[in-house]
Amino acid sequence: MKTKLVKASDSVLDEAAEILKNGSIAAIPTETVYGLAANAYDVEAVRSVFRAKGRPQDNPLILHISSTDMLYDIAESVQPLALKLAENFWPGPLTMIFPRKPHVPAETCGGLDTAAVRMPNNAFTLKLIERCGFPIAAPSANTSGLPSPTGAAHVMADMDGKIPLVIDGGECRFGVESTVICFEGEDAVRILRPGAVTPEMLREYAHVAVDSGVLEKTDPSAKVLSPGMKYKHYSPAAEVYILKGDADTVSRFLKTENRNGTGFLGFGDEEIPGNVTVFPYGRTAEEQAENLFASLRAADAAGCTQVYVRMPDTAGLGLAVYNRLLRAAAFRVIEADGGSDAVR
Ligand code: AMP
Ligand code: MG
Repeated sequence: MKTKLVKASDSVLDEAAEILKNGSIAAIPTETVYGLAANAYDVEAVRSVFRAKGRPQDNPLILHISSTDMLYDIAESVQPLALKLAENFWPGPLTMIFPRKPHVPAETCGGLDTAAVRMPNNAFTLKLIERCGFPIAAPSANTSGLPSPTGAAHVMADMDGKIPLVIDGGECRFGVESTVICFEGEDAVRILRPGAVTPEMLREYAHVAVDSGVLEKTDPSAKVLSPGMKYKHYSPAAEVYILKGDADTVSRFLKTENRNGTGFLGFGDEEIPGNVTVFPYGRTAEEQAENLFASLRAADAAGCTQVYVRMPDTAGLGLAVYNRLLRAAAFRVIEADGGSDAVR
């Protein structure tokens, strides 16, 4: 199949909407990462998304909507707290889980009786959903297991030849996927996946629990609240290690690293030996979120075989950065000063 790459503009809305209405799929920009879009109510279209990504069937998709009317078409019930959060965070990177109506296909929701819903904050994609008139199911537009795409070139690297259309909306603003929450009673939520809507932001409206699966390895055989968290994720071909320590200890550690093909993502205050290739990361959580996936992909493209990433601060958006990084690194954390829990 020939894949067409076009810039997001009103003139491609019709073509993109036709493709989705006809049961085919297309990659679309959002403010988090690029999505691989299908009519959420069309089982065959949804199957094509799973196939193109190589995504496990039990990993549910997020339904993207352009109006709260669409939410009522999906959700069996919507509690007042959900409406309040929608008012404050939609359109934006917050996904909420609701009991689903029977007409929402089980395939879209990984066989669960719930559906994850969000309104993305991207002008083109909102117009596209509106034009389609149905919710768009869209997981990240990468091959399952690889780092999520934050630019159209990443999507092309994974999807060229597999889907008819990729819409280039520029670089994604946040660079990490949405925050996923479920409700626990009337005034509490649980974060299943951290994102740009942080625990601190949610605490203004509700009691907030952070699920243990956010920072811990989940048992692959256990029943988990968010099936996506149990899979190997976000990993480039290179071996990724999280490097914990201050600038001095990290610099000293890297000087002892003599292997060829070593890459590093740091804060910018380290001294990097000449044999180590540095990729953009940043000092703030916002920069790190924006750069993480692109830099992991760039490290692969540069032929790196091992990549060290300096341990981020986990406050605010940093929790989302660390959550993705832990999975990219298969939970390998190294103490740069060679401390007792160093693993390598
Ligand atoms: P992605 O499509 O790559 O952004 O991943 C979607 C995430 O949302 C995965 O981690 C899923 O496990 C999670 N998710 C989607 N639907 C549900 C649901 N009904 N219940 C719990 N988690 C969900
Ligand atoms: Mg994904």
